[in-house]
Amino acid sequence: MIREKALRLLRTKPIVPRFGVLCIVFLAAGFLGPFSPGRAADAQSPIPEIQDTRLHDFAMTKMVDGRLAIAYNPVVCERMGPLLCGFYRMHERGHIALGHPPLSGATGKREEDEIQADCWAAQRASRAEVRAAYDYFLAGGGSTTANGPGAFRALTLRRCGQF
Ligand SMILES: [Zn+2]
Repeated sequence: MIREKALRLLRTKPIVPRFGVLCIVFLAAGFLGPFSPGRAADAQSPIPEIQDTRLHDFAMTKMVDGRLAIAYNPVVCERMGPLLCGFYRMHERGHIALGHPPLSGATGKREEDEIQADCWAAQRASRAEVRAAYDYFLAGGGSTTANGPGAFRALTLRRCGQF
């Protein structure tokens, strides 16, 4: 009798973990799937991000299939660190959110747009990402003609940011 019960338990036991895995899969599908209503409402995620190893920078905004997307260089991001890369991607989100035109061969970066995008990112990136960018800029990184010297960008982050 006991032996039969043990055998029955052994036979039915694997069903529980399988059911558990199924639940997790369905839950994940609910959170991450394209039919999740919460996804469309998330203002942080509708801009597609694509990897481009030919970029000579962390990231830039470009038109892909008729809509704005953020291209970033995963090699540069790997070398410079995910926090700094996260700030740069947020900077590009800033350009899009503020309605700045994407760069083309005919238009250079506008200094005012760059300051605004840095400020926008400083208010929305994580504290660690802003700190990483601040340290990088203060050490002279991120200096360009349009963006100004890195130290100037660091001041913008301090003026607009969370510290
Ligand atoms: Zn920019």
